[in-house]
Amino acid sequence: MTTNRPTVVLVYQRTSLPWVFESAERAGIDLVLVPRPDDTVAADPPPAVTEVLPLDLDADRAGALEVLRKRHADQPFQGIVTLYDPAVPFVAEAAEILGLPGISLDAALGAQDKRVMRARLAAAGLNVPRFERLDAPGTGPGADTGGGPGGWEEAAARLTFPVVVKPAHGFSSLGVTKAATPDSLGAVVEEVRRICAAQLGRPDGLVVEEYLDGPEFAVESLAHGGEVRVLSIGYKGEPEGPHFEESVYRAPASLPEDVAADIRREVVAAHAALGITDGPTHTELRLRGGRTPYLLELGARIGGSGVSHYIASHVTGIDVAAEALRIAAGTAPASMGGGDPVPVGAAANYIVPCGGSGRITAIHGLDAVREDPRVDHVVQMLFPGDVVRPYPDFTGYPAFVLSRHAEVTEAEEFHRWLERSVRIDYAPLDPSQLP
Ligand code: ADP
Repeated sequence: MTTNRPTVVLVYQRTSLPWVFESAERAGIDLVLVPRPDDTVAADPPPAVTEVLPLDLDADRAGALEVLRKRHADQPFQGIVTLYDPAVPFVAEAAEILGLPGISLDAALGAQDKRVMRARLAAAGLNVPRFERLDAPGTGPGADTGGGPGGWEEAAARLTFPVVVKPAHGFSSLGVTKAATPDSLGAVVEEVRRICAAQLGRPDGLVVEEYLDGPEFAVESLAHGGEVRVLSIGYKGEPEGPHFEESVYRAPASLPEDVAADIRREVVAAHAALGITDGPTHTELRLRGGRTPYLLELGARIGGSGVSHYIASHVTGIDVAAEALRIAAGTAPASMGGGDPVPVGAAANYIVPCGGSGRITAIHGLDAVREDPRVDHVVQMLFPGDVVRPYPDFTGYPAFVLSRHAEVTEAEEFHRWLERSVRIDYAPLDPSQLP
């Protein structure tokens, strides 16, 4: 039986996070799901999934592209998307090869490599902290020339401290570490390199950049044919390091209108500078000195595996993931044009902090949270028995609590209650027992 429903290939989406599947169903779009290699797709697949197509992007990228090319030749699909940051370049490349809507591979790679992103934003005259690139040995123009005269340490020591050291291709704040003084920089760089090797599985280039003081914000946008619509601006706390665990996300942020306008302008200009013309984006930025927006990163995808959809949809009333799927499939999104959306409500994500390390013996308070009428989802990722490694290693976040409120001040109050109510107990482990 043939159908007129568009089909979109959805790469590496965890089936435990429901939003994109529900949006596809509402939008009348069929999904071919490429499951994450470590995700067991339940016997009962999520809504809208008409086919499961296992591919291993890391082990055999060329083979995966070939399977998609063949699948498209046999049975054309209209688009390909991912919400998983490391897969963004693969999806862009597949779209390019198959002639499907999307961003270019160059734009995808540029947005993902913090060295390239910083250079492109600076070339476009946008706000960028001063930075030095430190490429893995033999891999680029900023290759490690050592700490001697003319070496990176000398160049980095000219930055204004504190600085932040981070992997060029990092995500989830992995390895991102503040160095307070030039004296401590060498040791911090070594530590970040060790984390890259251990957790990214390969050496990576590093960026050393000036620390941006000020509160952090996340901005959700949709781009279509180069037009960008900023949907929502949310508050992300003011983490001061030395390690940058995520904590809260509350939208819409309470901001003076001129500051919100500056944020929107900087975000829209960053899309143009990076060549992000189509699809949903998730931008993180800090207001340096409490006033001037400096981008931390712009992801060419829905953020937080769908959390950004949850937040922006409840703030605007726009079904963001459905719009993203429509853009991917080459059909007109319903919500472009018009001015800045007027908030219709508030939404929030509370990330339960690890608050310690060792083997988890109990997680207190989450059952009551699940029962709370303000809470739509508790996405639990760590359980009693799991081992949390001490910082700066990243084990994962214990749980997300997604809630809805009439006003953002109510979300603030709710988060204060969560801080008091949810607590994790650990049994200590000595380092030899760590996995
Ligand atoms: P990732 O892609 O791994 O999440 P980011 O560059 O977004 O890396 O950094 C993660 C977090 O670290 C940010 O959300 C922010 O809190 C903090 N951070 C990173 N760079 C800076 C900086 N230059 N100044 C202040 N904080 C920073």
